[in-house]
Amino acid sequence: MSKEKVNVLFASFEATPFIKTGGLGDVAGALPNTLNSQGINCRVIVPKLKAIPDEFKNKMTHITSFYVPLSWRNEFCGIEKLTMGKTIYYFIDNEYYFKRGEIYGSFDDGERMAYYCKAVCESIQYLAKYDDFDCDIIHANDWHASLIPVFLREFYRQIPLYQKIKTVFTIHNIKYQGQMSDAVLSDVLGLAHIKAAREQLYRGKGTINFLQGALYYSDWITTVSPNYASELKNSFYGEGMDGILRQRSDIFSGILNGIDNDYFNPETDKNLTCNYNIQDLISGKKKCKEDLLKEVGLDTNTDIMLVAMVSRLTEQKGMDLIMRMMDELLYHNIHMIILGVGDKNYEMGLKYFDYKHPDKFKYFQKFDEGFSHRIYAGADLFLMPSKFEPCGLGQMIAMRYGTLPLVRETGGLKDSVNPYNQYTGEGNGFSFANFNAHDMLFKFKEAYTLYYDNKPAWRKLIESAMKTDFGWEKSAGEYIKIYNHLLSY
Ligand code: ADP
Repeated sequence: MSKEKVNVLFASFEATPFIKTGGLGDVAGALPNTLNSQGINCRVIVPKLKAIPDEFKNKMTHITSFYVPLSWRNEFCGIEKLTMGKTIYYFIDNEYYFKRGEIYGSFDDGERMAYYCKAVCESIQYLAKYDDFDCDIIHANDWHASLIPVFLREFYRQIPLYQKIKTVFTIHNIKYQGQMSDAVLSDVLGLAHIKAAREQLYRGKGTINFLQGALYYSDWITTVSPNYASELKNSFYGEGMDGILRQRSDIFSGILNGIDNDYFNPETDKNLTCNYNIQDLISGKKKCKEDLLKEVGLDTNTDIMLVAMVSRLTEQKGMDLIMRMMDELLYHNIHMIILGVGDKNYEMGLKYFDYKHPDKFKYFQKFDEGFSHRIYAGADLFLMPSKFEPCGLGQMIAMRYGTLPLVRETGGLKDSVNPYNQYTGEGNGFSFANFNAHDMLFKFKEAYTLYYDNKPAWRKLIESAMKTDFGWEKSAGEYIKIYNHLLSY
């Protein structure tokens, strides 16, 4: 067995390039690779979802199959394997739970996630036997994987192979917790007879909470930026978990997410019509802007400021501020593009503005990775006025492509965007503090004025944005410190 390295099983419901609905997918696609290049043996375990493209499914090899006990059920579980870059991915195969149109949002998501968690726990003994992988750490991510530490302690601790395993749990977004009826305790989880589990999952009024289980049962808790970690300890951001996080603050830390610098690279990105770097912004980035304007059907005058958003359309992302200010924003001499899907009221609202301002604004109601890259490359200003933002990757990707972010100072946005200082000229973007539509508009006006009236200052900001390092190396090192610390006792 590979014992000279720390063996980490990284459990995530999504991972690029297989499946992605948001930042979790990006993280699970990039962090394990960096951990592997820094001497860890990190393997990722994800569900084999229907939406995974066939090009990947066709390359998977079968490792083994077994049955997973889930209360009174015994469910089939196949384990498939695929290597991408430096990382080995395992796929949990169960067509009943995972071969569905929607990734999330099924009526039985609680049962699907419980199955996923139990299957991960169960797979550990099979991976040791059939794939020479002797797990030291399980690194579970978000509520989908939050029952892993619970099951591990309550059902598997007596098995010698499992006794040394430590658990790390990362909160990518505390808004999503997996709150269920407590009937699930006996019918699905099989935990009703265990007092400790009943109590630690219980949320009152006949409900249990999966995420709360992870917060009590994990050996270490992290979240995706230092600022979000401190925000989560107060009630405004904590979504009811602030008390537990304050209580467990000695094993709770914030580590800033990174982005995959090879994947998000304007010099090599195949999704772009033209590649560029910091030296050829005029010929390169400008050409991307012109091609993007052409692609979306706007006037191709590249002198006009192009404002963009690529985002889930939810309250979290500050969509209420955007909706409130669309007319005022579009009153300025700008073009604007929004790419995103999400809540129906925002989708309908954006369609209305698209109809009202056909020469200035285009809304695209789809999830399109390639197109998002062309927007990051072609835009001048990237809006991200989030109400809360655990880390946020959009602002980092935008900066990597030389597009200045305008963000609200919350969560990881505050940790990653250094606001423009008009006296020193320093900064890599723009930010405002209060969740207020006019504060956003005033900050936009500052950016707008700078763009048109002070080209050298704008250019300097672009350069410093592109030079900001959001690679995973430093953050991966911080995770490794946690793994080593946990294995030291
Ligand atoms: P969150 O995880 O909360 O959705 P992040 O900023 O952390 O927000 O990550 C969002 C990721 O999803 C980014 O890579 C962003 O480019 C991508 N994304 C969001 N919406 C779309 C879309 N409609 N099409 C393509 N990519 C999208």
